[in-house]
Amino acid sequence: MTLETSTSSAAARDAVPHLVTELPGPRARELIARDDAVVSPSLTRAYALVAETGSGYVVTDVDGNRFLDFAAGIAVVSTGHRHPKVVEAIKAQADRLIHIAATDFYEPRYLELTEHLARIAPFSEPARVFLSNSGTEAVEGAIKLARYHTGRPGLIAFEGAFHGRTLGALSLTNSKIKQRAGFGPLLPMVYHAPYPRQRTWREGSGGDGSAELEVLKRSVLGRLIAPSDVAAIVIEPIQGEGGYFPAPASFLAAIRELCDEHGILLIADEVQSGMGRTGRWWAIQHAGVEPDIITTAKGIASGMPLGGFIARESVMTWPVGAHGSTFAGNPVCAAAGKATMELIEGGLMENAARMGARLREGIERVATERGGVRDIRGIGLMLGIEFADHEHSNAVQEAAFRRGLLVLECGEATIRLCPPLIVDEEAVDTAVRIFGEAMASAKPADGMDEIGG
Ligand code: PLP
Repeated sequence: MTLETSTSSAAARDAVPHLVTELPGPRARELIARDDAVVSPSLTRAYALVAETGSGYVVTDVDGNRFLDFAAGIAVVSTGHRHPKVVEAIKAQADRLIHIAATDFYEPRYLELTEHLARIAPFSEPARVFLSNSGTEAVEGAIKLARYHTGRPGLIAFEGAFHGRTLGALSLTNSKIKQRAGFGPLLPMVYHAPYPRQRTWREGSGGDGSAELEVLKRSVLGRLIAPSDVAAIVIEPIQGEGGYFPAPASFLAAIRELCDEHGILLIADEVQSGMGRTGRWWAIQHAGVEPDIITTAKGIASGMPLGGFIARESVMTWPVGAHGSTFAGNPVCAAAGKATMELIEGGLMENAARMGARLREGIERVATERGGVRDIRGIGLMLGIEFADHEHSNAVQEAAFRRGLLVLECGEATIRLCPPLIVDEEAVDTAVRIFGEAMASAKPADGMDEIGG
């Protein structure tokens, strides 16, 4: 397989990362000060990166510093920055038609993309697709469809879940209290069950999720809400924002059984874990479990705003006018989505599996050498490295940035590595080396020796 990327020259790769100023540089400092004065203070801003250009797995900041991007704009830029085929598709579509409103009119790119999504849906029956502009809107629509189809109001999600920030999706989100504080009342009849957070690298097997399943059955469905009132159980097959925890296959299978027993729909939120990142189109396919509805966004269009949900044909039963969106599935975004999916299918998914294995091996090696790591987990190019506390993971994240590697925290003390699916051996090995150096330089919290390798 040849991976065509815009970072293809050996010279370019050798020069990444390449830092030419202190960080943040003078231009970055000036822009950050202006940004501080005008932008909503709710944005998190992990560190002082002010991006100017992107190419493949390289981001260059406004001062000319080049970074190796293992954050991919929060797992979004699946084909790398400005993949030539995606850029070509966007430009060609911009020259043809920018907007028409797929809610009201037909359009070929919208059709081609939805056909492709229906074809890769992990169902044994035909699928139907609704496109949205974002992940939270995809979840919002999935909630509405589940309520409509079942005629039931209730929803069950999981502790640590992140499903988005609009009010319906936020009612399912259970990741950090600051994401919910002050925004109530949220949706009624939403309950959270424990998610099996298994730490298998150092602590051995965390079991099959049967303890958590028991709480769901006994406490949630036995005391809080009758199964006959529940429209859907919503789960991330790999919890993303909550800390990159893959759910055990047996747990997902048991949830499927529970849903079947009670006529509850199973919604897999694959906004972060889908689109080939784990080496398969959908993370839930690793467990051999079929959901009823699957949500997608992030990696679907290489950075253009697009999301959607796919449902079994027998579930997407709502009538004309029940749901729609002015912008969603915009022709330019749809063209980018189609190009992205073709690239993922054309080799990037296999590359994610291969490079994911190499990345894990490398990270396990440096973690063993350096010590201080509590757990390493994930599938494919969705890898989480957990430290003892937030202070430590934050220090590693900052130290990586200062060495030219972009990574992002998640959960309480975990760093996620979610690079573009185009990464090659050189990018992976460089990231591993820098991550090891960042771990060595970040001061461990007291008591880290207990975890050290
Ligand atoms: N669902 C999951 C699993 C996510 O990881 C995210 C975003 O991180 C969302 C939903 C919300 O997506 P968006 O930020 O595009 O609204």
